[in-house]
Amino acid sequence: MAFYAKEEKFPLMTLEEVLEGEEGDIEENYKEFVNPYLVKMLGLIGFNKSFVRAEGTKVWDNTGTQYVDFLGGYGALNLGHNPRAILEAIKKVMDRPNILQAALNPIAAALAKNIAAITPGELRMTFFSNSGAEAVEGAIKTARAATGRKKLLYCEGSFHGKTLGALSITGREKYRTPFQPLLEDVFQVSFGDMESLKNALAGEAVAAFILEPIQGEGGIIVPPEGYLQQARTLCDRSGTLLIVDEVQTGFGRTGKLFACEHENIVPDILCLAKSLGGGVMPIGATVAKESVWNRAYGSMEKCLLHTSTFGGNSMAAAAGMAALQEVYEQGLVEQSNQKGKYFIDRLKNLQKEYPIIKDVRGKGLMIGLEFHTMGGVFKKLSEEYVGALVAGELLNRYGLITAYTLNNPNVIRLEPPLIITYEEIDYMVDALEAICKRHKNFFSLALGGSKKMIGRFIRG
Ligand code: PLP
Repeated sequence: MAFYAKEEKFPLMTLEEVLEGEEGDIEENYKEFVNPYLVKMLGLIGFNKSFVRAEGTKVWDNTGTQYVDFLGGYGALNLGHNPRAILEAIKKVMDRPNILQAALNPIAAALAKNIAAITPGELRMTFFSNSGAEAVEGAIKTARAATGRKKLLYCEGSFHGKTLGALSITGREKYRTPFQPLLEDVFQVSFGDMESLKNALAGEAVAAFILEPIQGEGGIIVPPEGYLQQARTLCDRSGTLLIVDEVQTGFGRTGKLFACEHENIVPDILCLAKSLGGGVMPIGATVAKESVWNRAYGSMEKCLLHTSTFGGNSMAAAAGMAALQEVYEQGLVEQSNQKGKYFIDRLKNLQKEYPIIKDVRGKGLMIGLEFHTMGGVFKKLSEEYVGALVAGELLNRYGLITAYTLNNPNVIRLEPPLIITYEEIDYMVDALEAICKRHKNFFSLALGGSKKMIGRFIRG
């Protein structure tokens, strides 16, 4: 039963009502209280389902239809949905103080120690926060405080989060423009291009260069081999800190525990989040070399320069500890490597047969599938929507959840939980093949897709 607060504008809802499916019209609530245009956008591409249950690689909607999740929370669900081990770990700490600033938290301390044990080289000191963007904020501040320099370099097409600092070093104008002015002293270089980095480092002293070892939202872009090592060398030469953002690539996603291990480099600062929380708790971590941390925060006066109320709370830290244990105990890094090779091989075979597939790329289970767009009057629309249309068909005809990458909408991302089965991978490839057989190009996809979408094309 709804209950009344003292000065309510309308009756308050209870959690029980929502759980029993008596929450009223979800879309209406979203339209009125969250974001009406998100409702419209999801409706346009047929993504307006109501999911009510999730376990492992699968989710179910309110009609009982089953779906396989190949999106994996953009890298947050390496262990799948609601992994029992993580939920159990959270239960085990439920009677402990979750947030108690006036004391040291033993679980956060142990998680930090474990992170120091598994991250490359001299990475050692961890600051805990609650999201990927916050892990990046922590890294920016640490780099500036440690070096006393202001200038930051970031890559074209990069994505580091949408808080003001992280957005300042995110390479997509669409997200940046309405919020200008962002941070000063930030400069863009071309991802994967050594010359561009060399030139940018040649001028005024640079505090840090931040990059994703494989760009996620940029469209699953793998840099040329040797790029990370060369970037490491150039940063060393100029006293610039190298920040590697593994928020999306971390914890086995790319077939190594961390993607920077593909080139055996040690960042000065590493950003982690997403799957660190086991797909259940929000947690971010900024991990720095001890020497870097000391320069930024190494005194009584400086040790509280950067803080977070919920950072390292008991439940999130317990989830983090259990998540690491699961990655090791289930051998998920090797699974990601093997399954990724199998998946990419099968997709490359599809690409040979169906010209609508422009490119297949990625490492481990971080895979991008790029589609050919059209020229002429359909150029802009096809660039914005081809990925969404394929994702819409996968969802509505085959019960497969995917999405396009934020900075590059003609790429769909395949980032399933690392526990995905070979049968599920085969089912995805077969569904993609059926779609490619049916649709030779964007226009055919649009005709086969949503009627509302066609209406939109006609209206322009
Ligand atoms: N960094 C990278 C590489 C990401 O992919 C993302 C999110 O997709 C972020 C940072 C931001 O993470 P969050 O959405 O948790 O703030």
